[in-house]
Amino acid sequence: MHVTVLGAGTMGHGIAQVSAMGGHDVVLRDIESDLVSEGIDAIRSNLRGGVEREKLTEAEMESALDNITGETDLEAAVAGTDLIVEAVPEDLDLKKSVLGDAEDAAADDTVLATNTSSLSVTELASALERPQGLIGLHFFNPVHIMSLVEVIVGERTSDSTQSVATEYVDSIDKTSVVVRDTPGFASSRLGVALGVEAIRMVEEGVASPRDIDNAMELGYNHPMGPLELTDVVGLDVRLDILEYLREELGERFKPPQLLKRKVRAGKVGKKSGEGFYVWEDGEAVGMSGEWGDR
Ligand code: NAD
Repeated sequence: MHVTVLGAGTMGHGIAQVSAMGGHDVVLRDIESDLVSEGIDAIRSNLRGGVEREKLTEAEMESALDNITGETDLEAAVAGTDLIVEAVPEDLDLKKSVLGDAEDAAADDTVLATNTSSLSVTELASALERPQGLIGLHFFNPVHIMSLVEVIVGERTSDSTQSVATEYVDSIDKTSVVVRDTPGFASSRLGVALGVEAIRMVEEGVASPRDIDNAMELGYNHPMGPLELTDVVGLDVRLDILEYLREELGERFKPPQLLKRKVRAGKVGKKSGEGFYVWEDGEAVGMSGEWGDR
C-alpha cells in the first residue's frame, strides 16, 4: 500500500514509522523541510532505540527507513497514494482545509483518514466533495508503542472506506475498535469518566490519590491509576475535554471544583511539577497538598 501522512509532528512521524514497519511505501509531508527532517530523525532515533532493546534487527530498521520519503509538496506527496492520514494540529478549520486540498490533489479512490482526537468526523467530511471517503483513525501516543487504533465511522463513511481502514490497521500490527462518530469516541469518553469520578472521590475525602490509583492498578490491573494518568495527560487538557463532553453529553461530565481550582492555580500535572502528585525529574515523588503529609 502507498500511505501518505500529512504532518510530521508527534503523531505524524509515529504513524509514518509504524506504516513503514508494516511494509508500506510512506510519504511524510509537512509544510517545511526542517519539520520533515525532524520527523524522520525522530523515526530513526525510535528505531535505533528498538534495535538497542532488541525489539527489531538492524536490517528491519534499515528496511523501514528505506520505505519512507520526506516531502513538502502536497501534489507530489499524494501522487499514486492509496491512503492519506492527516495528523495536523487539532483545529477544525485547518483540518477541513488540509483534507479538502488533499482530496483535490489525490485520485478519486484515495481513502482519507483523520487522526483527530476529538473533532467530529462527520463535520470534517462536510467540507469534502466525497464525504464517503473520510474516516477517523485515532492513534495513541506514542504510536509505535500503543497497540490501539480507534476507527471512527462518520455518518457518510462508506463500507469500502471502512474496509480499507481496518485492513490497514491490521497490516501495521495494531488492533482496531470500530466506533460510531460520537463525542469523545470510546476511549476518551470512558477514560475521562473514570478520571472524573476519581477526582470527585478525592474531593469527598473517600481516599487519598495514591490509594484510589492503587485500587485501580492492583485491583483492576490498570497500568496507571486514573489520577496519575490525569497528571500525565495534563489537568488543563482533561478540563477542556470535560467541558466539551458536558456540552455534548450532559451533566455527568460536569468538571469537579477541585479540578478547576488546580488548573487555575497552574497545578496542571506532570508538566508543571504538580497536579494530584508532586513531580520531580519525570517521576511522581509524593502527593499534592493535604495528602502530601500523610
Ligand atoms: P504536532 O503539533 O506535534 O504536529 C502537527 C504537525 O502538523 C506539525 O509538524 C505542523 O507543522 C504540521 N502541519 C501543520 N499544517 C500542515 C499542513 N497543512 N500540511 C502538513 N503538515 C502540517 O501535533 P500532534 O500532537 O502530532 O497532533 C496531531 C493530531 O493528532 C491532532 O489532531 C491531535 O489532536 C491528534 N492526536 C494527538 C495525540 C497526542 O498525544 N499528541 C494523541 C492522539 C491524537
